[in-house]
Amino acid sequence: MSYSEKNLAAVVKGDKSIDLRPWSVPDIGENEVLLSISAVGICGSDLKYWAYGKCGRFSLEGNPMVIGHEASGVVEKIGRDVKQLKPGDRVAIEPGVSCKKCDFCKSGRYNLCKKMRFCATPPVHGNLCRYYVHDADFCFKIPATMTAEEGAMLEPLSVAIHTCKRAGIQEGHHVVIFGAGPIGLLCGLVAKNYGAKQILTVDIDENRLKIAREFKATDLTYRVTANDKDPKELAEKLHQVARDDGCHAALECSGADSSLKAAMHVSRPGGSVMLVGRGSLDVELPMVMAGTFEIDVKGIFRYANTYPEAIRLVSSGAIDVTKLITHRFELETADDAFRTASDPKSEAIKIMIKCGV
Ligand SMILES: [Zn+2]
Ligand SMILES: [Zn+2]
Repeated sequence: MSYSEKNLAAVVKGDKSIDLRPWSVPDIGENEVLLSISAVGICGSDLKYWAYGKCGRFSLEGNPMVIGHEASGVVEKIGRDVKQLKPGDRVAIEPGVSCKKCDFCKSGRYNLCKKMRFCATPPVHGNLCRYYVHDADFCFKIPATMTAEEGAMLEPLSVAIHTCKRAGIQEGHHVVIFGAGPIGLLCGLVAKNYGAKQILTVDIDENRLKIAREFKATDLTYRVTANDKDPKELAEKLHQVARDDGCHAALECSGADSSLKAAMHVSRPGGSVMLVGRGSLDVELPMVMAGTFEIDVKGIFRYANTYPEAIRLVSSGAIDVTKLITHRFELETADDAFRTASDPKSEAIKIMIKCGV
């Protein structure tokens, strides 16, 4: 049987359904590899395409799309010019393939490349399937001691690494993290690794905060309630909990406008506010704070050059990403996986789908 005949892909249309369809596998280019996919994690953006057919500024526009972008696999075949990989190698797949030629690519900020082709971002198909072709330069060999699931987790871990790097987190820093979802938790673990002295995690969900404490992704927690309407007052309360006059870095990972506003107030002079979550398009921020107190407000869009470090952090045991995995499914039951991921009652953090061996 050919790879195309053996392939099966999880296709979304934006109506909360998953179609498992036969899916043709393209011929491999000179610098590409054919991969047998091992494990794929479900991300918040995947859920948005599955439920509504759009995420941020991207839309399916009625076209069915193979979902999935947090993946690892095994090399089956290599293109003519591929030197660094061979069949049988286990790899983590960095889902964004940039042009490698433009100013952004050449200056190392290839996540901003205008010609970026990113898995499961329309019109580019994702890799929740059995067989998949990818650019060899964006496949990273993982050590034998690393599991396929850990390989898939390097993608969300990359967001956390990129965030903590851009925030300049270092020894002795106080960090406030808004949102205790997978990215917030991973940011906590990376910030600790970078030497943060104290992390305070803020969320509306007590269960998530409990998990953050259990995972040692945070030192302190604060549960936001309906009384915390005023961002300035919320920041005052956070100062009291943290017993400081503001944090060196506030990482906004919740996407809530109110949290972003509070992040501006909770930052100390000279601190930084990182925009990791996506709030509404025209959120109003107290920018005078940034001007008067030299607070650096920085955007985060995916990541660049993070995979080697992510591999090192996980393979050395410095960061345990598997503890975030709460549910496991097979490709054949991808439908249940997405339903579970979208159901708050499931208390899922990271859901993994096994595609092959
Ligand atoms: Zn993701
Ligand atoms: Zn480019």
